[in-house]
Amino acid sequence: MFIASDEKGKHINALEKEPKKQDYYCPACGTSVRLRKGKNVRTHFAHTSIKQCDYYYENESLEHLENKVALFNWAQNDALVEMEYPIQELKQIADILINKQLAIEVQCSPLSSKLLQERSNGYRNSGIQVLWLLGEKLWLKERLTKLQRDFLYFSHNMGFYLWELDHKRQVLRLKYLLHQDLKGKLHYQLKEFSYGKGNLLEILRSPYQQQALITFSVEQDRKICHYIQKQLYYQNPYWMKKQAQAYLRGKNLLNSKPQDWYPQVRPIENGHFCQISQNLNDYYRNFRAYYERYPKKQQQKLYPPAFYQHYFSKNMVK
Ligand SMILES: [Zn+2]
Repeated sequence: MFIASDEKGKHINALEKEPKKQDYYCPACGTSVRLRKGKNVRTHFAHTSIKQCDYYYENESLEHLENKVALFNWAQNDALVEMEYPIQELKQIADILINKQLAIEVQCSPLSSKLLQERSNGYRNSGIQVLWLLGEKLWLKERLTKLQRDFLYFSHNMGFYLWELDHKRQVLRLKYLLHQDLKGKLHYQLKEFSYGKGNLLEILRSPYQQQALITFSVEQDRKICHYIQKQLYYQNPYWMKKQAQAYLRGKNLLNSKPQDWYPQVRPIENGHFCQISQNLNDYYRNFRAYYERYPKKQQQKLYPPAFYQHYFSKNMVK
C-alpha cells in the first residue's frame, strides 16, 4: 500500500513524497503499518500483522505494487482516479477506482473462488463495476483453470475475454474470443496495450465497442476419436459423464466418427461464471446452429458471438 495515516489521521502518500520516520496506520483498519524502503522496491507501507486487517488479505508483492502504480498513472491522464479507495460498508479496498464507478483490482496471487465471488458481488451491489486484471501467476496457459474461469468476462463483439498485466514488459494484455477444443486446449486472440499509451478507460471498455469483424481459423484434430476412446479407457470423469449422456440418447461415443465432433473448437462451457451475469444461452444455441448448417471442414472459422446472432436474425427475416 502507498497510503497510510499518521498519528493525527492525516493521509500520507508514499508516491508523492518520501515519508518521514514515524508511526503509521492502515487508513482502513487502523492497525499499525511499517514503512518499507529498499533498493529494488518502491517505498511503500505494509501491515505489521496482516491478519488483523479485514481489508487487505495479504501484503502486496513487488509485482502488485508496480502494476498498481503503472495503472494509476496511466488512468490519471484521462479520468478521476483514486488509489486504495476504501469502501467501508464492504470492508474492501479498491486498488484503483476510476470515476467513482469502475474498480480495478490487480490480482497477482490465487484466491479462493468464494472470496472472489464475495468481493465481486460486493462491488456490484454497491453499483461499482469491477475489473480483475491478472498478474503472472494467473496468466492463461494451455488450459483454463477453475479460478481463471471466474475472471472471464463476456461481450458480443469479443466473446469470452480476460485481462492480464505484464509489468516486466509494461503491457496490458487482452485475451479474447476464448474457445476451447475437445481436449480442453484454449484458442484465442490477443491484443497488447503499452502502459501509458492511449486512454486506459477506453481500452478497458473496448470489448463493448463496435469493431471490425474479427475471425480466425482453427484446425480440426483428425485423431479426435482415438483421443476420446483413450479417455474412456482411462475413465476420465469428464468423458465418462459425456458417455453417460450419450447412452441416454441411445448412442455410444466409442462408435463416433470425426465428423460427429464438428465443430471441435467451442465456446467456454456453459455453467456458472463469476463475472458474467447475462444469459448466454442464445450464444451457445446460435453457435451450434451455425455449424450444423455449414459443411464440415478441416478448418473451422471462429467468430464473435455477435456474428452468429446476426447470421440467424438476418436469415429469419428472409
Ligand atoms: Zn488494514
